[in-house]
Amino acid sequence: MEQLNLPMVNLTPTMRCNLRCRLCGVLVPQYEYRPHMTVEEFSRTLKAIFEVVDHVEKLQITGGEPLLHTELPKMLELCFEYVSQFDTLWIFTNCAVPIKPQLMEVLEEYKDRVFVHASDYGVKPNISIELQRTLEENKIPFKYLKYFGDEQYYNGWVDQGDFIQQGRTETELKQVFSKCSHVNRGGSWYVRGGQMHWCGRSIRGAEVGKIPVRDEDYLDIFVGDIEERKDKLRQLMKAEQIIACDYCNGYYGTEDMSKRVPAGRQI
Ligand code: SF4
Ligand code: SF4
Repeated sequence: MEQLNLPMVNLTPTMRCNLRCRLCGVLVPQYEYRPHMTVEEFSRTLKAIFEVVDHVEKLQITGGEPLLHTELPKMLELCFEYVSQFDTLWIFTNCAVPIKPQLMEVLEEYKDRVFVHASDYGVKPNISIELQRTLEENKIPFKYLKYFGDEQYYNGWVDQGDFIQQGRTETELKQVFSKCSHVNRGGSWYVRGGQMHWCGRSIRGAEVGKIPVRDEDYLDIFVGDIEERKDKLRQLMKAEQIIACDYCNGYYGTEDMSKRVPAGRQI
């Protein structure tokens, strides 16, 4: 049977965040509902993903702000039980939460397979400097992205809008979907609450009740036997549009550049 490989799968230990970015792409501050996973739930989710997906290039720990979760080190350890099924574990942070010794221990242990993605919105400069210093000293691979002041990384963010419906036609929906950078990279799959969606906007809109949930737009990772779930994912991967694109300004790459706006401005 044909292998099921994905370039990117995102897990969100918590949707809580200590920042309140006005243009947060997944609208964390805008909605009170901010799921916070238990270790047991995280473990079950990982198991279900790797039953269905054969290989993931980037397994990403994002949020919310994952460093707020006190059990994050344990969750990272659990990820490494599936180390033969992914290339690199990426950990995202907003550079505004101190990195704890237990987390550093795990990062050091797996330093050849982890990568820290540090987006600095200029809110807690002392914490950010300390984070970078600690990662450097311990030779943990990381990328620092400056998202404040002048010369922001990639000229800032794309404003993907709130979850207001645009009323696009079927043809327009297909255009938005096919031009989306996430889609063109093979999906930035998000798994939370037992559902697996093409992108963070789709899952967030569904969970806060702002985007209608269509059966054809997600995989229920806990329902059905493994082959049934694999078949459903294969169908999903062939999608030509998802309803979430009617509630998004789009996210276009360099050929058809979405307008960039200053990142990380706080509410
Ligand atoms: S740091 Fe900002 S963009 Fe990131 S999850 Fe928190 S509110 Fe959203
Ligand atoms: S909703 Fe559509 S356009 Fe927006 S990020 Fe998701 S796939 Fe891309």
